[in-house]
Amino acid sequence: MNIQLASSLKSHNTFGINATGNLAVFQSAEEIPALMEKTTNSPTLILGGGSNILFTKDPQGWIWKNEIKGIEVLDETNEHVIVRSGAGEGWHNLVMHCIRNNWGGLENLSLIPGKVGASPMQNIGAYGVEVKDVFHSLQAIRLTDGELVTFDQTGCAFGYRESIFKRKLKDQYIIVSVSFKLSKIDHKIKTAYGDIQKELEKSNIQNPSIQDISNAIISIRSSKLPDPTELGNAGSFFKNPVVSSSMADSLQEKFPELVHYPAGDSAVKLAAGWLIEKAGWKGYRRNDAGVHTKQALVLVNYGEATGQEIWQLSEDILLDVQTKFGVTLEREVNIF
Ligand code: FAD
Ligand code: NAP
Repeated sequence: MNIQLASSLKSHNTFGINATGNLAVFQSAEEIPALMEKTTNSPTLILGGGSNILFTKDPQGWIWKNEIKGIEVLDETNEHVIVRSGAGEGWHNLVMHCIRNNWGGLENLSLIPGKVGASPMQNIGAYGVEVKDVFHSLQAIRLTDGELVTFDQTGCAFGYRESIFKRKLKDQYIIVSVSFKLSKIDHKIKTAYGDIQKELEKSNIQNPSIQDISNAIISIRSSKLPDPTELGNAGSFFKNPVVSSSMADSLQEKFPELVHYPAGDSAVKLAAGWLIEKAGWKGYRRNDAGVHTKQALVLVNYGEATGQEIWQLSEDILLDVQTKFGVTLEREVNIF
């Protein structure tokens, strides 16, 4: 266990917000009982890669930073493999490990920042795949009594960028490992989403492998999204709102170019980035807080923005979108 008192959190969050806090870094689940004793039980915050967090104040108490590493095969048949990863492994490292072994299922989730332990928190998703599609189980320590508990799919109550850990069981468990069920044969590759097909055509690829899909997604993401090491951000700041089809119809009458997708019975998903761009915010900058020039869903820190400034900008965008479209955006980033 590594204790760092009154430590700068700037390099521990991808927004690059200069907050300060007491960090307790641990590398194994076995250290947690000692950690509970040392930090008088529960942490104020559990931190992975800090790529989905906005610090609007200095966290008091203790921040537990999870660095539990290790990837292992738990079970294997001719068709499937169950892979378990420590919660502190880098997400993209795990994806690359699986691709190298030709295990299909995670390739569309290439290049998402952060750690494996946070992936079930908001059921991370991209390009038509969500963690729940390949999730097998996870192990988490209950903070009230230190008990190790296993959660299956049902127990996690996954939804669109949601799980039970963001709602009913918020701040009650620390995830220590996550297992995924991946395909060894007959894997169904998903190329229908966004620009994947276009990117494959550029390289004249007809029958893509999982490596080709991963390469295509890495290339698209690198061209559109700001690299947090160069420009502070936490990816999409808001979720895509899901509205009733009657509401979507009336919006489309006013805005024929409205970007929308079916989302189950009588529901429609709107592209939050389109709403924000249409409202005139794309490329907007106030001091060092801004809206990305290429993707309006991403708020950025040009250097010295405070968490409060980014939060205020998000609030102004939220109110403006509400006024112009009657749609209430919900923040995806965890506000601390
Ligand atoms: P953190 O930011 O450290 O934590 C996020 C939340 O999870 C916090 O509430 C924290 O307390 C909790 N938490 C973290 N670890 C644990 C644990 N072990 N046990 C219990 N609670 C824990 N997200 C997507 O879904 N899809 C994308 O395509 C995507 N693209 C992104 C692109 C960029 C450029 C950036 C910066 C972010 C993107 N994100 C995306 C958001 C983010 O990367 C993911 O949500 C990621 O899973 C967060 O991981 P983290 O380790 O950084 O979590
Ligand atoms: P994009 O391709 O420009 O598409 C804009 C939005 O439309 C996306 O948010 C996506 O919703 C939706 N969409 C696109 N094609 C769709 C389809 N065929 N069916 C249903 N919905 C569709 O988006 P982008 O900004 O470049 O991002 C690409 C992918 O990476 C998206 O899946 C996005 O969620 C993910 N991403 C997430 C974050 C994050 O922080 N959460 C950051 C960057 C990228 P969904 O978001 O519901 O997929």
